[in-house]
Amino acid sequence: FDPNTIQPAALMYHCRQPTIQDRNVSHIFPRHTKSNLPVVARGEGVYLYDQSGKAYFDGSGGAAVSCLGHGDTDVTEAIKTQLDSIAFAHTSFFTSDPAEQLADKLITHAPKGIDRVYLVSGGSEAMEAALKLARQYFVEIDQPQRRHIIARKQSYHGNTLGALATGGNEWRRAPFAPMLVETTHISPCFEYRGKRAEETTLDYGLRIANELETEIQRLGEDSVIAFVAEPVVGATAGAVPAVQGYLKRIREICDQYGVLLILDEVMCGMGRTGTLFASEQDDVVPDIVAIAKGLGAGYQPIGAMLCSAAIYKAIENGSGFFQHGHTYIGHPVASAAALAVLTKLTDGGLVERCAMMGDKLNDALQHAFGQHPNIGDIRGRGLFRALEFVEDRSTKTPFAPDRAVHKSLKKECFEAGLICYPMGGTIDGRSGDHILLAPPFIMEDAHIDEIVSKLQIAINRVL
Ligand code: PLP
Repeated sequence: FDPNTIQPAALMYHCRQPTIQDRNVSHIFPRHTKSNLPVVARGEGVYLYDQSGKAYFDGSGGAAVSCLGHGDTDVTEAIKTQLDSIAFAHTSFFTSDPAEQLADKLITHAPKGIDRVYLVSGGSEAMEAALKLARQYFVEIDQPQRRHIIARKQSYHGNTLGALATGGNEWRRAPFAPMLVETTHISPCFEYRGKRAEETTLDYGLRIANELETEIQRLGEDSVIAFVAEPVVGATAGAVPAVQGYLKRIREICDQYGVLLILDEVMCGMGRTGTLFASEQDDVVPDIVAIAKGLGAGYQPIGAMLCSAAIYKAIENGSGFFQHGHTYIGHPVASAAALAVLTKLTDGGLVERCAMMGDKLNDALQHAFGQHPNIGDIRGRGLFRALEFVEDRSTKTPFAPDRAVHKSLKKECFEAGLICYPMGGTIDGRSGDHILLAPPFIMEDAHIDEIVSKLQIAINRVL
């Protein structure tokens, strides 16, 4: 490297610790084997810094993880304090204070009727636990004939085999198709792509929700375990909220046929959409809800599956044992971190701040890109927003998949110092390329301008 082009502080860092580029061999198995990534050196507030000292605005928190930004000392202190007392004790021998307190606090803020918390290490684990608990519930109440899960197209529920089978992301499922348990997928509630010109938004939501009833009847009225959905779809379609009335109708159908409603709030939960649980805005209470990402805010790997008192009672009064479990469930250090995060979100007013900043971000995005010929839709709730890119705005025609517009946008944003989460369009044209924005709730007004101007640079370069 040329020392004249590198700042002295960065040079020192450079000399102490070689970057991946300087090494001939790496033993990391990366996500993309052909990627050549910079090494992250530190994080502070809304920024990440690589080893050269370059700052990146963390506009997506990975994928909606870093709700508190980076370097939050309340959370790091809570972790250190917990480490000094006890790092790990197996849950078949002990419970722990941080796990108990975290569960209490989650239930205090959860939708009414949700009563128990099962702590795991991430989103896929939370969804696996949800699916297995739903099945075991029916075994316990003597309805073992219930065996089907119904989910939606264009959804993502995790990468482990059960969660992957539930998701409707065709690209992620394809290589593993022979290994996936059979799940049926009804239409997503995706107004921009699905609403017919002649119907109202309300009618559209009801029409799509009613697909669930048709599918339950097709499979057999007493054979369905659960319906699974993300209240605001994350990675697969890009911050797509259900239209008003959709989830309420879904709840009615589930109740009518004794089917459990599992909501996956792994990405959209923990305040991301402006309420702690996204489903609060739809006025619907699920039987089981999965959360992760924002729960640990990136400080610790943690997720949770929350369920109703009725489901818990069925296990308690039946076998008394949820036939599941991983070594690290209820991990004390992860729980202590999540408790500190949750305290900041709820008592610290950050959920309300997310709603307020989300409205401002939406206004700014609409103002800057609302008329852009290649941006068909700007959508989302709270600080969970997406822009969908199209070849033709009037016909909503997506760009050809091989143009990989989302990848170029990600690259140009990164160059400009903005991290966003890209996603490609679906092959059958059900959605276009989009980028997801999920910045930290602590962001200031000036950061909105920064997001917009960096996006502008990237979009101009790509389109
Ligand atoms: N569910 C949803 C809605 C998600 O967005 C994700 C991850 O992106 C998962 C589940 C899986 O979570 P994890 O990657 O923590 O296993």
